[in-house]
Amino acid sequence: MHMTPSVRDRADAAEASKIDSLKAFRSPGRGFWSDVPESDWTDWRWQLKHRITNLASIERLMPTLTPEERAGVQLANTKLAMAITPYFFNLIDPADEHCPIRQQVIPRLEETHTAPWEMSDPCGEDSHSPVPGLVHRYPDRVLFLVTDRCAAYCRYCTRSRLVSNATGYDFHPEFDRQIDYIARTPSIRDVLLSGGDPLLFSDEKLEYLLSRLRAIPHIEFLRIGTRIPLFLPQRITPALCAMLKQYHPLFLSIHSNHPRELTTEVRDALGRLADAGIPLGNQSVLLKNVNDDAGVMKAHLQKLLMCRVRPYYIYQCDLIAGSSHLRASVRQGIHIMQQLRGHTTGYAVPQFVIDAPGGGGKVPINPEYVLSHNQDRVVFRNFEGKVFEYPEAADGTPLARPAQISETELV
Ligand SMILES: *Cc1c(COP(=O)(O)O)cnc(C)c1O
Ligand code: SF4
Repeated sequence: MHMTPSVRDRADAAEASKIDSLKAFRSPGRGFWSDVPESDWTDWRWQLKHRITNLASIERLMPTLTPEERAGVQLANTKLAMAITPYFFNLIDPADEHCPIRQQVIPRLEETHTAPWEMSDPCGEDSHSPVPGLVHRYPDRVLFLVTDRCAAYCRYCTRSRLVSNATGYDFHPEFDRQIDYIARTPSIRDVLLSGGDPLLFSDEKLEYLLSRLRAIPHIEFLRIGTRIPLFLPQRITPALCAMLKQYHPLFLSIHSNHPRELTTEVRDALGRLADAGIPLGNQSVLLKNVNDDAGVMKAHLQKLLMCRVRPYYIYQCDLIAGSSHLRASVRQGIHIMQQLRGHTTGYAVPQFVIDAPGGGGKVPINPEYVLSHNQDRVVFRNFEGKVFEYPEAADGTPLARPAQISETELV
């Protein structure tokens, strides 16, 4: 359809103002809990104790629950529990069924639909576990699962077979066996603590694990995967940061999907971690109608930089059972990457990956930039589609005589 410039200008202006609004830092405020004393509201244990976990309490707060959501909440305890911290609940827009926050944490009936290619352990973690709770897929690093609990549960969780224990997996990590395996496997230099969420542990329990790992001479690098800075920023206390900074080099990978998750509380919590010298990365999952739009994704990634977080990965949603309604396409993921590289700060551009179904590890998925690699040149395009050439023989050696560089600009 032909649009007059003024219509297009207005559409562009509307899009720009939507993006500006997504990037603004706001506090969700106290919302439904305005009567609660400040000392309780800012206490992470109070937040955990008062999570929304059943139909009666969610319906009381949100009479606008749809029939699909109501059915999903009723079924959640047989699949993946529902739990939402009061702080995070206040980010949900009760008037918008498609609210990107709502879709991540409120169960839906569609979770009971399993596509033929979906699995309960899509990345084959259990078959790569030398001892329970330790996934040793790559030669030099391990995934160390420390708990099956999280502050809130993401409906697309790749580890929902064990997380929240709704299906009776009964995950009971034995730290001595896990640590013993790491200690007697000198090829391991990097340990990633995950779960569940390691930051749900008390400072003392977490420190016990970190100090035991640090005592192993071949462990160079520690990192923690956590969604707590988003679900429960109150947990990021000065005492926690002071403890963590004793175990450097320690990196933290947070998990945030949408710019509205990055509130003033979250920015402050991440600032405390960064001030403790902890390099911060972010992992997002590409989710339909949540962040599968290039403008929303770019706003999110730029806002992460404002929170001192370097975007690390965007994951294609794993083939976890019951996630079809949340899965965006690989094709759209590639399109988004194409809209990022060159169009914004390089630090804002993460790597798009598919964690290979069955257990092949994370594989980078990129837009194609190399058009051909001929006898005497590599032909490639830039972010604007302009074509360039680099003189090089097919075997990779420099050319004795520079090739004629053409100045043609295709596309
Ligand atoms: C993601 C993952 C890691 C860490 O991979 P990086 O690419 O180094 O971040 C390690 N082990 C397992 C099993 C993983 O799934
Ligand atoms: S925080 Fe991580 S482990 Fe916990 S439910 Fe969400 S995706 Fe799963």
